[in-house]
Amino acid sequence: MYLKTLHLRQFRNYQEQKIEFTAAKTILVGNNAQGKSNLLEAVELLATLRSHRMARDRDLIKEGESVSQIQATLERQTGISDLTLTLRRNGRRSVALNGESMRRQMDFLGVLNAVQFSSLDLDLVRGGPDGRRNWLDTLLIQLEPIYAHILQQYNQVLRQRNAFLKQAQDAASSPKNLEQLALWDAQLAATGTKVIRRRDRAIQRLAPIAAAWHANISGSTEVLQIQYVPSVPLTQNQPEEVQLAFLTKIQQRAVAEMYRGTTLVGPHRDEVELTINQTPARQYGSQGQQRTLVLALKLAELQLIEEVVKEPPLLLLDDVLAELDPSRQNQLLDAIQDRFQTLITTTHISSFDSQWLNSSQVLLVNAGK
Ligand code: ATP
Ligand code: MG
Repeated sequence: MYLKTLHLRQFRNYQEQKIEFTAAKTILVGNNAQGKSNLLEAVELLATLRSHRMARDRDLIKEGESVSQIQATLERQTGISDLTLTLRRNGRRSVALNGESMRRQMDFLGVLNAVQFSSLDLDLVRGGPDGRRNWLDTLLIQLEPIYAHILQQYNQVLRQRNAFLKQAQDAASSPKNLEQLALWDAQLAATGTKVIRRRDRAIQRLAPIAAAWHANISGSTEVLQIQYVPSVPLTQNQPEEVQLAFLTKIQQRAVAEMYRGTTLVGPHRDEVELTINQTPARQYGSQGQQRTLVLALKLAELQLIEEVVKEPPLLLLDDVLAELDPSRQNQLLDAIQDRFQTLITTTHISSFDSQWLNSSQVLLVNAGK
């Protein structure tokens, strides 16, 4: 797929800017705080309706304005699409495809696919489990847009159940409260099971691809393993059985949940385990080795999305090239070639060799222009 144009209106530090992409590789060069990452974030929002900087919509809208719009034309094998995302200060979003407003976000998701790689991704190795869950969810939204809907349903039930638990905390474990809690359990188990099974399936597909990239890049016999570790056992394959195991487990924890005032079982507490030679990656190896791992994950994401959607997604590289050593830079650049349209930010144009510069579009980013 190929992003032809991007039009930003009152987005972050951009007042109004139209950008035409004229090569498979675009290098965005500029000093700090000029709007390079903001531009990538706009593309990421069109792909996933999420920002991995976890920004709220009101932070995305240009200061002093109340509405922001990101518009793009995208060429796919199936034709050209026009995507529009409108953000409002009150948090209400709307999306339109080819000028037609889409009621469901999942009809908009999946049109543009992109993999983002920034220094924040190192948190996948070093940070807590919520970052890894979030990463996996963002990937799943692109692999099967209906997942966005499933996750939303789960989060809604979870919020309601937690609100009930909080409010019932004073009269914990009264039979009436336990009875009422059980009413939420069926819904939580049903939607939670869908989340768990999809996450597990995605990791099972991603893991061997990432392991192969990892072996390739590190050039060693270190073995990368990725495993989804659900809070409910996934030994059975049938969704009904998983759902039943979920219910059993959550009922066992009901009294504890009442006292703690929060839901203790479910995919919101699951873990994606990254190990190298069976040691948690966080404890294993140098910063460079952790970067190699993240690079392998990102290349695996690119490949998996391409396999599933049958077209190469975009690659958004935010300031990461400079952090890789020359051999890993080359591994990455070789993997991209001209196969994936790539937007790269940098503060130093000198970090690119002339062959790359000659085949790239170079845009200077300065104060939101
Ligand atoms: P670096 O090289 O440091 O990563 P960058 O070019 O990637 O810099 P960005 O993160 O894209 O920088 O943009 C930073 C600028 O955008 C900051 O000056 C920030 O204050 C500004 N900015 C962010 N959100 C808004 C907003 N809602 N309204 C106006 N300006 C904003
Ligand atoms: Mg930046």
